[in-house]
Amino acid sequence: MKTQILTAEQLDVAVELLKNGECVAFPTETVYGLGANALDEEAVKKIFLAKGRPADNPLIIHCASKAQVFNLVTEIHPEAEILMKHFWPGPLSLVLSKSDIVPKIVTGGLDTVAIRIPDHPLALTLIERSELPIAAPSANTSGKPSPTRASHVYADLASKIPAILDGGSTGWGVESTVLDCTVYPFRLLRPGGVTVEELREFTAVELDAGVYEDQQNNEKPRSPGMKYRHYSPNATVILVEGDNIPSRINQLVKEQDLTTTKVGVLATSETKQLYSGLTVLEMGSRTDLRQIAANLYHLLRQVDELELDLVYVEGLTNDQMGMAIMNRLRKAAGYKVVYS
Ligand code: AMP
Ligand code: MG
Repeated sequence: MKTQILTAEQLDVAVELLKNGECVAFPTETVYGLGANALDEEAVKKIFLAKGRPADNPLIIHCASKAQVFNLVTEIHPEAEILMKHFWPGPLSLVLSKSDIVPKIVTGGLDTVAIRIPDHPLALTLIERSELPIAAPSANTSGKPSPTRASHVYADLASKIPAILDGGSTGWGVESTVLDCTVYPFRLLRPGGVTVEELREFTAVELDAGVYEDQQNNEKPRSPGMKYRHYSPNATVILVEGDNIPSRINQLVKEQDLTTTKVGVLATSETKQLYSGLTVLEMGSRTDLRQIAANLYHLLRQVDELELDLVYVEGLTNDQMGMAIMNRLRKAAGYKVVYS
């Protein structure tokens, strides 16, 4: 199948594809999503097939209005309504009890469904014009870093999907926060664009074990997607945390044979000059975690383009946006973490 790249002016081509049970990649404010009619099992199957996504990993449904959301769920905790009011449209997915019209293929067999209203004009127009709730996971091959540009989607899914709606680079660069609102206090399943600090201004939030995990354990996480290796380049990724990160990385590099191993570092602007003889990829300033989030997946993809064998990543703070970034980095590293 030939994959068309559509401009914003060609949005109606994407609308028609969705109405006809096809899947289409489109930009959201977080990352690119691979969307299909959430109420059409055959259409949703195409998403799983194109991504190579395990069937037990549920999809987030994207809506354009609260009225559309109310059709998909049975009950909403009053504090969840407050969160909707405050954070939608935006990078917050709420897990709620699903209504009968949501097929189980979307929810990976669960009785709950994750829903959000994205804050991106193309995504909203696409959903409004198709008049459909759109199930959409990130538009990458399963296991690869999520796509933040149309070219990333093309690199992974060309010939597997009919079209990509190109809206340039996405703003946030990390996925939405996933919050389970079927338990109280609400439970943070995946950190993302909305921080736990922001959520706690409105409601009580507990962190699921999967959020901070630095070891892959055997306990069943509540968010099935959190158990899979994720965001990974082909290179070996090692995350280095602690007080003296650059000197620890330089020490670790000395143990490598640089004639046979191509080594790189993902470094912050403050410390990038401390590495010599290595390929240095700049994440952004430690004082601007949003910038680092926006660059992250592109840099992880560049690691492969540069054919690095081994890459050390400087650890960051675990709070605010750092919680989401560090969660992704721990997974990209396959939980290989060194403390300095
Ligand atoms: P993605 O769409 O690729 O960003 O992944 C969606 C994430 O949301 C995965 O981590 C899923 O496990 C999680 N998710 C989606 N639906 C549910 C649900 N009903 N319960 C718990 N987690 C969910
Ligand atoms: Mg994903």
